[in-house]
Amino acid sequence: MQPESADYVIAGGGSAGCVLANRLSENPENTVVLLEAGPGADGFMNRMPSGGMIKLGKPETDWCLTTEPDPSLNGRQQFWSAGRMLGGGSSVNGMIYIRGDRKDYDSWASELGCTGWSWNEVFPFFLKSEGFTGQPSQTHGTTGPLGVSEPRMKHPFAQVFVDACGEFGLRKVEDYCAGDVDGAFTMLCTQANGQRSSAARAFLDAAMKRPNLTVLTEATVDKVLIENGRATGVRYIKDGENRTVQCLGEVIVSSGTLNSPGVLMRSGLGPAAHLQDMGVEVVRDIAEIGKNLQEHASFHSVFQVDQPTWNNLFKPHLLAREFLKYLTVKRGLMTIIPVEAMAYLRSRPDLDFPDVKLSFGLMAHNAKTQKPHELPGVVVYANVAKPKSRGEIRLRSTDPIDKPVIDHRLLGHADDIASMISGAKKVQEIFTMPTFAKHVVGPLAPDPMPQSDEEWEQAIRNSAGIGYHPVATCRMGGDEASVVDPRLKVRGVEGLRVIDASVMPVMPAANTNAPSIMIGEKGAEMILEDAST
Ligand SMILES: Cc1cc2nc3c(=O)[nH]c(=O)nc-3n(C[C@H](O)[C@H](O)[C@H](O)COP(=O)(O)OP(=O)(O)OC[C@H]3O[C@@H](n4cnc5c(N)ncnc54)[C@H](O)[C@@H]3O)c2cc1C
Repeated sequence: MQPESADYVIAGGGSAGCVLANRLSENPENTVVLLEAGPGADGFMNRMPSGGMIKLGKPETDWCLTTEPDPSLNGRQQFWSAGRMLGGGSSVNGMIYIRGDRKDYDSWASELGCTGWSWNEVFPFFLKSEGFTGQPSQTHGTTGPLGVSEPRMKHPFAQVFVDACGEFGLRKVEDYCAGDVDGAFTMLCTQANGQRSSAARAFLDAAMKRPNLTVLTEATVDKVLIENGRATGVRYIKDGENRTVQCLGEVIVSSGTLNSPGVLMRSGLGPAAHLQDMGVEVVRDIAEIGKNLQEHASFHSVFQVDQPTWNNLFKPHLLAREFLKYLTVKRGLMTIIPVEAMAYLRSRPDLDFPDVKLSFGLMAHNAKTQKPHELPGVVVYANVAKPKSRGEIRLRSTDPIDKPVIDHRLLGHADDIASMISGAKKVQEIFTMPTFAKHVVGPLAPDPMPQSDEEWEQAIRNSAGIGYHPVATCRMGGDEASVVDPRLKVRGVEGLRVIDASVMPVMPAANTNAPSIMIGEKGAEMILEDAST
């Protein structure tokens, strides 16, 4: 049934949207409608951890976006996957669980005017969401819906990498979830009992049985309806028809960093000149909607090693064995995560905080065939931890089915390319540390191995890609130019908030799923607080 009105209408059922749908409908007196463009996330393939990745590249479950040619990548375009189904990114992602560093959130609060978003203030919301199944600890929640656990299949080389980073001079971080990521550590993942814990599984499975929550899938939001400065409803397309749901309380845009700007722009909110070019009537000129796009540029190095790694299991008979193993005991290759250890390092010793993030994985690909490498290999992705490069999102047309323009300069800032060059070179050094050196047969990528900084720069600009962590296109701030205020309300419009990764003012030095879920938790609490006063 499609209700005509609700207290809360949520546009987008991704990592943050699923949290909102759950928390706002906990009180049976609140009526909630969640609109999601893609399909539901039930069924075996969505529960099997690796099954989510099979959804990538398929237009039914992936937005399959493409960037404009990027001059900072020597004119290359990037294929940009984004989950298009209940759970959003969390239904297709690598399941790596990380929150970021105390310094990330403290700087949001103290330098960017995001009152209420310091580490001490966001920490309880990480705990609230979490159902951790490891050793009891002050830094993990155990009663929340989001399954967080040790990976079921871990390769011994993950610890070897951490040890080699120690020999290289990095700290060993005992508990990276406590607000300190400055060093090296092995990873936790968003899985429960060997199953992917997407936001859909974690936050919607039980909540969808509530009579006061309506979840509509295959429902593409066109725009928020705004009358006299207040959001009064949402227009969406379902089964080829335009439909409207009236909103009695608040509309929450939760369509993700790449799509939330488009929903707002089609509603008449955004840079006035661009809206006029597109033929959209300007409701409010908000210049920064779509601006400030930030992403983890990513450059990978591959080493051949002396012991089999996960890519060696990609043979038909071994895959069949692993699939059977998953069916019977929910273990094995189908549960692996692409990054089993991380390290943060400084390109220059004078830096207060690491500027390079390394992600270590046991699943190496052959750059020529794009298939799992036939040789045993390990891979390290070097990211600019907190990128200074910026891009923007614009409307391509007013058709909600049309894909947004993503105009990025992924390595447009000189500091970012300098960090990447240094990071890529330091990766080579880490693999000469005694603990790892004895397992290294030789480098497989980059090929040929750059010999000078100029060659490193070209190798990076010719092959670096995205890290799947876009943020900040509807940035939160204390200043009037910011899109949302620290209570995530769109400035100048009543009854409208944006709650998803797009509100992050700057990139945390982390992957962005747990931070997006935290934003959903904190945003829901703020909505309920404001409704009760
Ligand atoms: C391939 C990949 C791997 C990743 N790996 C990791 C990882 O291992 N660890 C990690 O921490 N992070 C990872 N991330 C990032 C993380 O998943 C995202 O940061 C997070 O999911 C963002 O949450 P969100 O709520 O902001 O948006 P999303 O989860 O993207 O949700 C937005 C939702 O809105 C829907 N939507 C969009 N437009 C409309 C519309 N017009 N109408 C209706 N619905 C709409 C979308 O379909 C989607 O379901 C990965 C992301 C990807 C794509």
